[in-house]
Amino acid sequence: MSFDERKNIILEGVAAAPGIKIGRAYYFDKKVFRAVKLEIEDAELAVKQFREALDKSKRELQKILDLAVDKLGKDRVLIFEAQIMILDDPVLIETIETRIREEKMAPAYIVEDEISKYQQLMMKSDDAYMRERANDVEDIKNRIIRNLRREKWKSKVPEKRIIVAESLTPSDTVLFAKRHAEAFVTDFGGLTSHTAILARSLNIPAVVGLHDATIEIVDNDLLIVDGFYGRVYVNPDETIIAKYQRKIEKLHEVEEDLKRITKEKITTTDGVAVNVLGNLDVEDELKFMISNNAEGIGLVRTEQLFSEHEFLPSEEVQFEYYLKIAEKMYPKNVVIRVFDVGGDKVLPIDVKESNPFLGWRGIRFLLDNKLQFEDQLKAILRASSKGNLKIMLPMVTAMDEVLDTISLLEKCKKDLRAASIPFDENIELGIMVEVPAAAVLIPKLAKHIKFISLGTNDLIQYLLAVDRTNEIVAELYQEFHPSVVQTINHIVENAEKSGLDVTICGELAADTLATPLLVGLGLKALSVSAISIPYIKRIVKNLSYADAKALAEKALLADTHDEVAALLKEFEKEHGLDFESIIFEED
Ligand code: PEP
Ligand code: MG
Repeated sequence: MSFDERKNIILEGVAAAPGIKIGRAYYFDKKVFRAVKLEIEDAELAVKQFREALDKSKRELQKILDLAVDKLGKDRVLIFEAQIMILDDPVLIETIETRIREEKMAPAYIVEDEISKYQQLMMKSDDAYMRERANDVEDIKNRIIRNLRREKWKSKVPEKRIIVAESLTPSDTVLFAKRHAEAFVTDFGGLTSHTAILARSLNIPAVVGLHDATIEIVDNDLLIVDGFYGRVYVNPDETIIAKYQRKIEKLHEVEEDLKRITKEKITTTDGVAVNVLGNLDVEDELKFMISNNAEGIGLVRTEQLFSEHEFLPSEEVQFEYYLKIAEKMYPKNVVIRVFDVGGDKVLPIDVKESNPFLGWRGIRFLLDNKLQFEDQLKAILRASSKGNLKIMLPMVTAMDEVLDTISLLEKCKKDLRAASIPFDENIELGIMVEVPAAAVLIPKLAKHIKFISLGTNDLIQYLLAVDRTNEIVAELYQEFHPSVVQTINHIVENAEKSGLDVTICGELAADTLATPLLVGLGLKALSVSAISIPYIKRIVKNLSYADAKALAEKALLADTHDEVAALLKEFEKEHGLDFESIIFEED
């Protein structure tokens, strides 16, 4: 194809990481090493070569891990640790070595065969995440085979280019980030692929799942990557380039605006104060809480401690973690949610439940394991002496759960007093409202608690009877279902009447389309992931409470999810609140 025929091609894929970049393509043709079925003479020599290749692969991965820690922080590098763990797996090593000795076949062939078995098992998983991870294992296989062939590791690539590849492994992605890659463009991959996850964390625009990007694009082509809309322009003409240059300028302006807003304490245009707090999932996010000026932490998901420590982490380990958060956020408040195990989260004990979401989860598990629950309560109490911690219970469905927790909390306080350990005597206790039963019981529960937080992720699944992790019914998981809108309204009204503070910490709070509705329904505190804080503040700042209230009243009368969604979209357009439409106003 001539260059002229290859002008102005537009490719559509999955918008995997936001941002816009104009730059030159670097076609990353990844060499795949295929192993041949070769017989060998000296099995012991082959085993030795295999061990050397394994060691070399481990050293390479360790380098990538160090780089990833540097770029992403230590909590975001599990995938690389997992790859190293596979290389350390004694069963896998033993099996490969035994097969080399018994079958007298080339190690590369045995490695390919054995690791492919691993991959096939992962491919068969019901879990989409697990299936994506099968691609990551390909990287390990290729790495060992390359090292067996003593081929060099090609880690030097040009700087500041748009990387075009069939697919990228996590390690490729990190290496390219080190070379200041401008954007990623791939044939394969979806939103949960590691290229996508890492690109978002690294703040590098990415479009994945383009199918034939590697056919349409050649090295050095001029590309525009639009990570908002999942579009790639190949050799665009001057008018498109000029249009995108304007969009990039506009994007910078909006980003500057967001930085300014982040520093402000915001109200609606008619003076109603709305607090934007943060949800803390991993410790590394603390720095973003501070830089994005979170007005407190509305939810600390303590389950995160399990991935770093043994189950259950000791009182001491927990105390240090909670104290660090309390001190870093002081004098702002921090709500520590006690372990929400079970459901789709780790359950420390190996039990098979046919329906884990309706099973041994959250407060139910903790009250059945009182010694561990006491450890956690004491750790929180000990970290509370400055007075800025609160305790929140997950998955509450009944009054007894709250009363039993209060008894246990009193016992912990008594023990601490006896040991002269200081703590906040008035520490507040609250609950997640994430099960319809709790929503109904608010006026009764209110006698024993000080605050509630709306966990809409679970509330929606329990209200609509739709498993939040089941792809088959994903379309039925409707955040704007009229029963969801009405239940939120019911909760806020009842909580206010009962004198409870109300926050929302489910993902709905971070959806900018939903912000006017939530504010209109009377929510005055929204807790969202740290990176979403500026976006939510921007909406609130440009919103009139009176308009939001009128919108909520209309939404409460709607009959269907689509009707509510249409109302919200119309509102967003009418009031110029949509972030993307500002940048894409010419589209
Ligand atoms: C929720 O259910 O909305 C919530 C915030 O908790 P999690 O997502 O941790 O279950
Ligand atoms: Mg929940």
